[in-house]
Order: sequence, then C-alpha cells, then structure tokens
Amino acid sequence: MTLLDGRALAAAIRERTAGEAAALAPVLAAVVATEDPATEWYLGSIVKAAAAVGIELQESRLGVDDAGGVISTLEALSADPEIDGIICLTPLPPSLTLAEAGERIAPGKDVDGSSPLSLGRLAAGLPAFAPATAQAVIELLHHAGTELAGAEAVVVGRSTVVGKPLALLLLAEHATVTVCHTRTRDLASVTRRADVLVAAAGRARLLGAEHVRPGSIVIDVGTNEDPDEGMVGDVDTDAVEPVAAGITPVPGGVGPVTTSVLLRNVVTCARARAG
Ligand code: NAP
Repeated sequence: MTLLDGRALAAAIRERTAGEAAALAPVLAAVVATEDPATEWYLGSIVKAAAAVGIELQESRLGVDDAGGVISTLEALSADPEIDGIICLTPLPPSLTLAEAGERIAPGKDVDGSSPLSLGRLAAGLPAFAPATAQAVIELLHHAGTELAGAEAVVVGRSTVVGKPLALLLLAEHATVTVCHTRTRDLASVTRRADVLVAAAGRARLLGAEHVRPGSIVIDVGTNEDPDEGMVGDVDTDAVEPVAAGITPVPGGVGPVTTSVLLRNVVTCARARAG
C-alpha cells in the first residue's frame, strides 16, 4: 500500500507558482462570514502558503448572518482592479447559498470555481477554474500515475463544491463515473466497483475495508473533527490500508494540494490581467 503524500506535490506546485508570482505581485481576496474552526484552519493554511509564494492575501471578515455584506463585498472585490482572485469561504450565512454568492464573483477572478458560470463551463467542456479541491484530487491521481481512462471511478458526495465538479473532471479524464449520496442504496456494493474511490461525504470514517475493492486507489477528501484524534478523514485508514493499493492521508493528502492549486489559479488570473 502506498501513502499518496499531498505535501510533496503541493510543494512542487507552490515552487512553480512562486517563480511566476514574483513578477506579478498577485492579490487574493478571501471573504469569511463564519467562525467555523475547520474554515479557520483552511484559511490559516492559505495565509501561510500565500505568504510563502508571494501572493498578498486580503481578508474581508463579515458577521455570520450578514448575507447582504457578503454579496456587497464580493461585488466590490469583483470591481476592484487591485484584486486578482476571490475566494468565498463556507459556511455562508444561512440565507445565502454558495451558488448565489458565487454569482457575485467576476468570472475572471473565480479562482475557486464557485460561480454557476464556472461549473456550467466545466460541464460544457469550456476552459474554467474547477473548485480547487476537485482539481486537487485529479492532480493527486495524475501524480500517482493512476490510469483514469476507462477506470471505474466512484465519488461519495454530490456537493457543488466537491462531488459534482469532481465527477465532471473525472468524466473529462474518460473515467466511468458513479456519484453516491445519502439516498444511494447499499453504498458498499457500489464503492466496491471502484478502481478509484473518492470519499467526499464529510462523515468520519464512513468508508471501511468492506467499501474498498482490493488494489484500488482511495482519495480521502473528508476533514472531520474527532474529539480524541483531531482531524480525521471519511475513510477508516487503518482498516482500508491492507486492501487498497494507495490512499491519501488526512491531514497531508488532498488539503495541501488544494491550497497550492488555489494559489496557482490566482497567479493564472494575475497573468491574464497583466496581458
Ligand atoms: P457537503 O456539502 O456536506 O456534502 C456532503 C455530500 O456527501 C452530500 O452529497 C451528501 O449526500 C453525501 N453524504 C453524506 N453522508 C453520506 C453517507 N452516509 N453516505 C453517502 N453519502 C453521504 O460536504 P462538502 O462541502 O462536499 O465536503 C465534504 C468533505 O470534504 C467535508 O469533510 C469537508 O470538510 C471536506 N472538504 C475538504 C477539502 C480539502 O481541501 N481537503 C475542501 C472542501 C471540503 P446528500 O447530497 O444526499 O446530502
């Protein structure tokens, strides 16, 4: 069993990004309307990586119920010529969906693929930023040398931010894609078909050995807070390790690659704006 280390891949992406960022002085705006500890943790990793790469990060902090503030801030940042990329962190105020917020992000600054336009373009096979997490999964699979064309790929989770765009990206890689969710009957019988199994359900240790086909590659997107162990994934790694051919650790798998992909997207926007 191989542990698919995201940290090394993330560092390689960051190194290339830093080389390009030096001449562009890019600026990423992060809009935050939550006190959720997982979001703070993610933001902290973006702050650290952005500083290392040479991207300026501007944070806009809003109240947890301030949907109007989120919308007006996103509109102002979209119009601001100093800003290259915008990320709107979740959870959002309860009256606002990510799609509604994403609509307020200028398409050329939508570095985390949050807008319905980006998702639609992705579905249509047009150039667009995919959500960084979904893109990170694909890059980890490429880095591991996983053959995707013709592979059975099963994604557990159908959110707009991970499962759905990832299914589109896997289809574009010519995988045969199945997407599971809470209404899926007999989850294990579906996931056991997978050559590539992606867990993005947000349920600690949802997937055990009985869900995994021997020799498959398992990508664990989940980040769940365990009172005793800290951050744990959606996969029971100890149980799955003897069965799978490769698995991403949590932390240290998808997360660092996500941050690096996001920052690379900011530099891509800055390059486009610089002409
Ligand atoms: P989400 O919006 O809550 O969506 C979860 C999805 O999983 C839903 O489609 C849900 O089905 C499905 N699901 C939940 N329980 C299930 C079960 N028992 N069986 C089958 N399907 C189940 O979550 P998300 O935003 O996509 O995030 C998923 C996980 O990824 C979370 O742990 C999150 O923290 C993590 N995450 C990690 C990164 C990273 O970079 N590492 C980035 C983003 C998110 P229904 O649609 O039927 O409800």
